[in-house]
Amino acid sequence: MEKYYKRALELDKMDVLSGFKYYFEDEDDLIYLDGNSLGRLPLRTADLIADIVKNQWGKRLVRSWNENWLDLSQSIAAKIARVVGAREDEIFLGDSTSLNLFKLAFAALKAKSGKTKIISDDINFPTDLYVLQSLVDQHFPGHSISLATSEDGITVEDHNIQDLLDQDTALITLSYVAFKSSFMYDMKRINELARDNDSLLIWDLSHAAGAVPVKLNETEADMAVGCTYKYLNGGPGAPAFLYVRKDLQEKLVNPIWSWFAHEKPFDFDLKFQADKGIQKFGIGTPPVLSLAAIEPGLDIILEAGIDNLRKKSLDQSRFLLEMIKEELLPLGFRFSSPLDDEKRGSHVSVQHLEGYRITRSMIEPFDDAVPIIPDFRPPNNIRIGIAPLYNSFMDLYYTVERIKGIVETKEFERFGQEKLTVT
Ligand SMILES: *Cc1c(COP(=O)(O)O)cnc(C)c1O
Repeated sequence: MEKYYKRALELDKMDVLSGFKYYFEDEDDLIYLDGNSLGRLPLRTADLIADIVKNQWGKRLVRSWNENWLDLSQSIAAKIARVVGAREDEIFLGDSTSLNLFKLAFAALKAKSGKTKIISDDINFPTDLYVLQSLVDQHFPGHSISLATSEDGITVEDHNIQDLLDQDTALITLSYVAFKSSFMYDMKRINELARDNDSLLIWDLSHAAGAVPVKLNETEADMAVGCTYKYLNGGPGAPAFLYVRKDLQEKLVNPIWSWFAHEKPFDFDLKFQADKGIQKFGIGTPPVLSLAAIEPGLDIILEAGIDNLRKKSLDQSRFLLEMIKEELLPLGFRFSSPLDDEKRGSHVSVQHLEGYRITRSMIEPFDDAVPIIPDFRPPNNIRIGIAPLYNSFMDLYYTVERIKGIVETKEFERFGQEKLTVT
């Protein structure tokens, strides 16, 4: 491992983003590799929220709606637009990813009412599939869902999607970056396939936004949803976003009508008239505190630059994969992420039969080893989330060294197989 230690030192020295970690709350004695589940707290967020609570809510009270709050969702959405390659009038910020997917999938199925097929894949995030199942079960009884199968459990080939696609396909929904394996689709190619069959496509960007360059406009994507509490560092349960290409907006109807989607909410008209723009996808009063908390994280991402982040993330995942190959494969580990850079997001998964107990040992060392927080995804994936804004190459070196030690000494045997609720 000696040579990797030296390499990590050198790579950290050359890292142009190394200063960005100081924008975040940081515990000295913790290696955090779960930024793809809950990103770190930007220091400015803590001050900003304290100020909004004390001054805007505390002192200005309801006057704050006009002074600061009514435009908040749209002004922060404009920054998300820059991160995902869209126009600012194509992004709505609010509600959860699941709810946004429900709204858009419902609207898409209505817009393509002559067609009955829905396509997704079997490595997609479960909530996305649940939303589709609920739509078929509750609202579109004649529709059916077909899942493209991943042959190796890691990637989905274009032809796996293409084989299912036909003129009867109303909707395709896929995660751009897969939550377990980190597999990343060719967005442009899949958009073309959808267009050739006159189908609509919704991308879930939850594991992609802030982690990889996303080019919604350039690839002519129809729709997308995504969360802000992972690589965007917006805080636990932070409001999600949705994207609808400008020319599609007038063709889609939000299934849930509420005053915040109304053209003129403060006229209090008794008849609903939808907003003409992207705000038509809003539902109810925005959660001001959670919305405001998203902005500092976005500012940091925009300052670092998404291309710089991608470059560092790839340098880091390559370094990690090389160490895993040399040091961990001989100990019973297997890669469960694509090795090809173009097909990999910013996290790396490895499998081991004792994956769960190894993860527990990393998080709760029995001696003075530094706690390392990755996460675990069943049946036996250890997911190592690389967040280039605050992870160093040395973090990755220590992680591999520690995993190696845990397996060689069988330290994981301190733990049972029973699972904690959040892993
Ligand atoms: C994290 C994640 C979600 C989360 O959905 P919520 O409604 O915010 O709980 C959805 N889809 C994908 C692909 C995710 O990675």
